[in-house]
Amino acid sequence: MLNIVLFGPPGSGKGTQSEKVIEKYGLVHISTGDLLRDEVAAQTDLGLQAKEIMDKGELVSDKIVIGMIRKKLDEHQGGPGFIFDGFPRTVNQARELRKALTDYDERVGVMISLEVSREELVKRLLKRGKETGRTDDNLETINNRIDVYDRQTIPVTYYYDKMHKHAAVEGTGSVDKIFERIVEVISKVKP
Ligand code: ADP
Repeated sequence: MLNIVLFGPPGSGKGTQSEKVIEKYGLVHISTGDLLRDEVAAQTDLGLQAKEIMDKGELVSDKIVIGMIRKKLDEHQGGPGFIFDGFPRTVNQARELRKALTDYDERVGVMISLEVSREELVKRLLKRGKETGRTDDNLETINNRIDVYDRQTIPVTYYYDKMHKHAAVEGTGSVDKIFERIVEVISKVKP
């Protein structure tokens, strides 16, 4: 199995690039943001709790997110592998991912982080807010999401650094150019 963590701040293009990676490598997409939005849309108890947190730009509890991940891993065993998008977002989530994958004799092959300046992120997210109406794409929540990323999520890069699994990729330029950089990194992952 090929397991990839696609990492980066909100608006760095994880969703767009995930689609291209899936198309090329046939991986199963696990986006915790999408899974949470599905719960919100279905108005489940979990969704109602999560919506309030997401609209503030804070992180949903590790316990909820890890539960969702374990369920997905269970459903798709024996497949070609996974691409994790928007997860892990805390060092605790990274440790829990490692444990969950180990249970299946699996591991993360590489963690790719997309690097984009704050100014560019804000520009992209405001545009997405106008186009899609996503309720967390307003200036106040965007700024909080980037602050939360800097405080709680950046430490995840050090976790993968220590395991020599972190590859930084420049996240600006054309979608195809960025994808080329990602493919280059994936081609070096040891099976
Ligand atoms: P973005 O990367 O653009 O912020 P996401 O769709 O990944 O968008 O996430 C939207 C929101 O969902 C986050 O701001 C957070 O509240 C919640 N969320 C998503 N993934 C996680 C996670 N792994 N841990 C905690 N909260 C999460």
